[in-house]
Amino acid sequence: MNIVILGPQGSGKGTQAELLAQKYNLEHIDTGKFLREVARMNTALGKEVYETANVRKELVPDHILEEILRLKLNDVDRGQGLVLDGMPRNMGQVGFIEKIFLSFGRKLDKIFFLDVSEEESIKRISKRWICEKCKTNFIMGKDIENEREACLKCGGKLAQRIDDTPEGIRKRLQVFKRETIPVLNYYKEKGILIRIDGARPIEKVFEEIAKYLEKI
Ligand code: AMP
Repeated sequence: MNIVILGPQGSGKGTQAELLAQKYNLEHIDTGKFLREVARMNTALGKEVYETANVRKELVPDHILEEILRLKLNDVDRGQGLVLDGMPRNMGQVGFIEKIFLSFGRKLDKIFFLDVSEEESIKRISKRWICEKCKTNFIMGKDIENEREACLKCGGKLAQRIDDTPEGIRKRLQVFKRETIPVLNYYKEKGILIRIDGARPIEKVFEEIAKYLEKI
């Protein structure tokens, strides 16, 4: 089973992908997380990714994502199912995913679109704090009371993501509309897109996705 989770910032993609990976034993490919690791490297590639994702808040060039996907798939057993989290984000990525999947004997089964309003997206992201050490996310007011608290998992220092400023969120939402909405329309026409109301609680969203997956 190969599935994709798409949605704007703060729609809960990462959380749902993680739950699905656990329940269905899928390999979770989180492109944003991987690129944040690359952006910390002191190399030409690291600098390019940092500049694009954190300063300009644009999408990282397709050839880098294509390379990442190839490397990841080389490492994964062919029979192992996948959950792609945050990719494809533009039509160029749709093209290379189809090509690469074909060469690995895979096909995309379903694309889940976690739909949340722009308002909800901004509200959620501005409450998101992340452990600098183990990268676990925490919600201010729910998991933690103030930013001086230590990570509940490893005791690390909490910080907001460098691209999670109000201006950064607005810019990334514009990119989502411009680049990713055409991707959703493409999969809708192919009949493999499922829209999920992402504004509901985590368990409800998960239950609905699981209901569709039981049919595959
Ligand atoms: P995310 O954690 O999904 O919000 O991703 C953080 C940033 O990483 C995005 O704003 C992009 O700059 C970059 N990124 C993540 N996934 C992709 C992708 N599929 N294509 C291009 N850039 C990406």
